[in-house]
Amino acid sequence: MLKLKPCCECCAADLPPDSGAAMICSFECTFCSRCAHEHLHGKCPNCGGELLARPRRPASLLAKYPPSTERVVKPGGCPQAS
Ligand SMILES: [Zn+2]
Ligand SMILES: [Zn+2]
Repeated sequence: MLKLKPCCECCAADLPPDSGAAMICSFECTFCSRCAHEHLHGKCPNCGGELLARPRRPASLLAKYPPSTERVVKPGGCPQAS
């Protein structure tokens, strides 16, 4: 089951479980679509894997399967595009 992390690791933008802007890698490193495209070019900076759109969890299931509340943000923020 996905953890559904609450924010972008780069810019700390909120990414609620119903957000259509959340992008994840296979380890569920989580980024907003703006960082994923503009800074990361679709590639996870932690593991090198591809970033794909995170599926939304239906609101009716969030009470039983709540999203993670642990905010993970990289200390250095977004890597600059090279
Ligand atoms: Zn971001
Ligand atoms: Zn990753």
